[in-house]
Amino acid sequence: MSTTDVQVWSAALVIPITAPSVMDGAVAVRDGRIEHVGSRDWVVATLSERGLSFTERHFDGVLMPGLVNAHTHLQYTGMSEVGARQYTGFPDWIRAFDEVYDRGGLDWGAHAAEGAAALLRAGTTCAADVVTDPQAASALHDAGLHGIAYWEVMGWSNEDWLERGPAAVEDALDAMPTPPAIGVSPHAPYSLEAQPLLDLPDLARRRGMRLHLHLGESHSEAEWAEARTGDLADLWRSGESSSFTAMRARGGGFSATQFVDQLGVLGPDCHIAHGVYMTADDRRRLRARSTAVALCPRSNRVIGLDAPPVAAYLTEGNLLAVGTDSLSSSPSLDVLEDVAVLFDLARAQGYRSSDLGRRLLHAATLGGAWAMGLATGPDRVGQLQAGAVADMVVVDVPVSDIVGTIDDVARGGAGRQIETVVAGRVRYSARG
Ligand SMILES: [Zn+2]
Repeated sequence: MSTTDVQVWSAALVIPITAPSVMDGAVAVRDGRIEHVGSRDWVVATLSERGLSFTERHFDGVLMPGLVNAHTHLQYTGMSEVGARQYTGFPDWIRAFDEVYDRGGLDWGAHAAEGAAALLRAGTTCAADVVTDPQAASALHDAGLHGIAYWEVMGWSNEDWLERGPAAVEDALDAMPTPPAIGVSPHAPYSLEAQPLLDLPDLARRRGMRLHLHLGESHSEAEWAEARTGDLADLWRSGESSSFTAMRARGGGFSATQFVDQLGVLGPDCHIAHGVYMTADDRRRLRARSTAVALCPRSNRVIGLDAPPVAAYLTEGNLLAVGTDSLSSSPSLDVLEDVAVLFDLARAQGYRSSDLGRRLLHAATLGGAWAMGLATGPDRVGQLQAGAVADMVVVDVPVSDIVGTIDDVARGGAGRQIETVVAGRVRYSARG
């Protein structure tokens, strides 16, 4: 074995997420996977005992699992002029989005590649990338990033769908490159009629693919209890169920979450983005189905929506991840910026526990991995654990005590990512 076969990253604080944090810690990596995690002294002694030589990169800051961006659309990276402004709600934002989109001249492939490079600079090693145009389908693949490229399906009527929908989706999925994995993203309950929303989960699941959809992002998806005239299940059985919008118009004041749950869309192999307009019952349903929610608070703010109920999610024990959404509705692709916003939101909403920073860093790493089925198994990420894929980020914050430093990463780590490691390879380094 040559001397360069084992590489050690050591830092003033190592946050493994799946184990207690370690001051003066280290991670040993071989063949792209983690060999040992612990105090630097112990890691070095263990390697010596095993007769393994190594090279070392030391940092004064924090070493933690690579960030997981659990909701983005890399192809819209070229639409940052839209995301740089402030809107008064969905209609206002969609108008601005369509104006730039319809102007044309956007190179989805090139912009998605730029987005992937931005992820690496922001310490992100894994992403849920929603792909709407085939030219953008290879961004994660080309950049060697982990995660899932989700093929987005939207705008189908029941009639058109029954005629040629499934075949069109199967063809699109067959054309997408792997790795990483491919998934299916039925856009949202209001942009698809009921038949495609019924069929798409089965189509994806028969192929062993995961699901991801926008849910509870628009105010129109909120439960509207005062308008409820009957039971959702009865309305569903009545045949008056061509779409969420049609069912709402017929007096079903149920929420979009109740609707997709009735259709069997949710489950442990599905995660949702946003989750803003969610009642206690909606949140309970997500927990009951083991469906994680990727919170994207900066995108909600730019569009002019309400803030997600992060304190309630944390208190009630929902599975949480963090996403940036795209540059068409957010100023950057740095998930730590969203973590900082979530920290302040949770406090403002009354969440008092001292574990807030730790739980949000969990959401931005292991939570995102969980949301994509990558928290366990041979290709697991989002954690510093022996045998896991060596996806890591170094965040250059001064290290004091453990809890204080974790809070500092959560509140002020954004923009301080100085080294990104994917499968044991340095893919971005501020050291050059
Ligand atoms: Zn989105």
